[in-house]
Amino acid sequence: MSETLFNKVAFIGLGLIGSSLARVMLAEHLVTTIVASTRSRKTLEDAKALGLISEGYSDPIDAVKGADLVILALPVRATQKVLQQIKPYLTENVILTDVGSTKGNVVEAAKAVFGEQLPAGFVPGHPIAGAEHTGVHAGKVDLFVNHKVILTPLATSATLAVSKLTQMWQAAKAEVICMDVDKHDEVLAHTSHLPHLMAFNLVEQLANREDNLDIFRYAAGGFRDFSRIAASDPQMWHDIFFANKKAILNAVDGFESQLKILRQLIEDENSQALMGLLGHAQAARQHFNHMLAQKPLMEKNKVTQQFTILPGNKTFKGKFTVPGDKSVSHRSIMFGAIAEGTTHVTGFLEGEDALATLQAFRSMGVSIEGPKNGEVTIHGVGMNGLKAPTGALYMGNSGTSMRLLSGLLSAQAFDSVMTGDASLSKRPMERIAKPLRQMGAQIQTTGERGTPPVSIAGGQNLQGIHYDLPMASAQVKSGILLAGLWAKGETSVTEPEPTRDHTERMLRAFGYDVKTEGNRISLQGGGKLTATEIQVPSDISSAAFFMVGAAITEGSDVILEAVGINPTRTGVIEILKQMGADLTVENERIAGGEPIADIHIKGTRTLKGIHMPEDQVPLAIDEFPALFIAAACAEGQTILTGAAELRVKESDRIQVMADGLKVMGIDCTPTEDGIIIEGKGKADDWSAIFNGGEIESHHDHRIAMSFSMAGLRTSGEITITGTETVATSFPTFTELANRAGLDIQISEL
Ligand code: NAP
Repeated sequence: MSETLFNKVAFIGLGLIGSSLARVMLAEHLVTTIVASTRSRKTLEDAKALGLISEGYSDPIDAVKGADLVILALPVRATQKVLQQIKPYLTENVILTDVGSTKGNVVEAAKAVFGEQLPAGFVPGHPIAGAEHTGVHAGKVDLFVNHKVILTPLATSATLAVSKLTQMWQAAKAEVICMDVDKHDEVLAHTSHLPHLMAFNLVEQLANREDNLDIFRYAAGGFRDFSRIAASDPQMWHDIFFANKKAILNAVDGFESQLKILRQLIEDENSQALMGLLGHAQAARQHFNHMLAQKPLMEKNKVTQQFTILPGNKTFKGKFTVPGDKSVSHRSIMFGAIAEGTTHVTGFLEGEDALATLQAFRSMGVSIEGPKNGEVTIHGVGMNGLKAPTGALYMGNSGTSMRLLSGLLSAQAFDSVMTGDASLSKRPMERIAKPLRQMGAQIQTTGERGTPPVSIAGGQNLQGIHYDLPMASAQVKSGILLAGLWAKGETSVTEPEPTRDHTERMLRAFGYDVKTEGNRISLQGGGKLTATEIQVPSDISSAAFFMVGAAITEGSDVILEAVGINPTRTGVIEILKQMGADLTVENERIAGGEPIADIHIKGTRTLKGIHMPEDQVPLAIDEFPALFIAAACAEGQTILTGAAELRVKESDRIQVMADGLKVMGIDCTPTEDGIIIEGKGKADDWSAIFNGGEIESHHDHRIAMSFSMAGLRTSGEITITGTETVATSFPTFTELANRAGLDIQISEL
């Protein structure tokens, strides 16, 4: 129940929207008295009989006397006349709002009545919720639940009025958004008014055909879904189309020109471009849904998920393909796009980050089919074929996309802007902008800390440089090499220590000559890339959880297929072998320039505690949370040193793992740059190691997946909270783990 916000509320108009809001106000006890004025007596009588109002008046003047909130819930065209009538009778501090579907003309009507100095209590509003039926009987108490309500406060609006109306709509369980009046009308013209216009138009077009009965009789789902909104009230839509004329005409013009393009593609049977257009639209819809759905997840942490794993003897067996490597997925799109010919990609990781890269290239005119089951087809446009995007390129959470594209975009003929989500917007971009400027790029970052958005002016002639990387960063190295593809002469980068070399390898796979001499990588600008087949290797970081699961479970037998074993990434294999795991690397081969292999692990012997070799630390940095679980099951002590970086990952992985291990009964001591774990394993004894408990993953996917594997050797129930982030890097984790023999139950909180 909410607090009482108003003493007397007067509704002018009490149909679908007004009566729904009145129902909410009563249910939530927001108001002491509700009165209303409508055109017909019948509505007032019905409203009284329904218990919605205590008094009904034919004259709005009688309704507004003494009211501290007046709500206009009538057709927008009646606004001016009603305001004129009630103006002299409004109380001094009245809050005055409306629910009309257009806002510019409501404000105009108010100005015509009150002059430029509008009442401080006047705050126009628009609930984005409705139904095809109208009238006082159509109202529903839950009409606004999980819908948006747009308030358009004016310069004259009092903060208190905005805040009380916000509370009122929140009590209706709606999400309140504040927006400028013009913006509201423009946005609604495209998202609501144009679709309604199209629905009316389509039904009209079909209704005018001679065979209309047949058409309607056999109408398929598509027609039914699309035309549903054409059953809406014609009078209301007549009013809206006129009330928002300018913005709607703009939207119709945009629709017409887009329709012409589509028509032409069909007439020309231009299959590639048509697939490109349809794919772009389909992905855009998913992308936006995702972006929007992600927002509350990140900002309010409302949607959280929990894993529960019950104790009991478990097996761990099977052949699995874990999702593709993210770094390689990104690059397959970028290089496929600027190559000549058609590139096929398999094993593509359909995670949010790589999809941001994919969508960026679609926005630059590249026709891309998929992804579907990890398959993507990219119709390359060549080195000079990218087109100017119409708006900013949204990189989501992906630092890789933004840093690599900074290099690529610096060399294009057109201007561009890249933006990202709240977290990416805090990450440093100067480290890539600086060397690019030395090459002649016009690139700007934002604020003192040089963060996104990043703006790039096109049409610059880049010059090759030699650059000594001040930090070991594969992203910066790759960004410079990408710009170097278009630069005059040689571009070279020297790195302080080796970093992931996926860019160099894949460029070579696309036929581009890249030299690696010690720590120096160089290429000559002005060449071209030739399309190829790319098999994205399975991500060794994801495979690591299954390797550890198999290594700690009696009788396990797991094969992980086509895992990337790039030498810059294989620390986990080396460390597990040193701990005595029964692990073999089979079927080694090269795919898309990357070495891959099948990894076969069996649970035949108890692991041994070791001092983890420091030279393997950078090569296994993401795999330590999983390795700590292995260490807990090993016989004797395991010591990790030289891994301070673990403290600044998605969570402080040393502390968070130590906390979780202690909860589960493992003796361990976190240190500044590592951890000491007292393994509880005994030779040839496969009994439980962990005693269960509640683990807080701090929304860190790798912590969640690591502790899931502890479920293979637990004597008590394990619950892991904050597991929703697992889906971003390993969407099939629970499915595959359960297939192997672990029993993870998921619950949404
Ligand atoms: P509705 O169910 O038809 O109700 C309209 C109400 O306004 C009725 O009570 C009607 O009185 C009264 N009314 C009509 N003309 C009037 C006039 N000239 N003077 C005084 N009262 C008058 O309509 P609604 O769906 O609630 O829509 C109301 C407002 O909400 C509109 O501005 C519309 O743009 C907006 N809106 C509608 C939707 C939707 O999907 N329906 C969604 C969002 C916003 P009687 O009962 O006596 O006829």
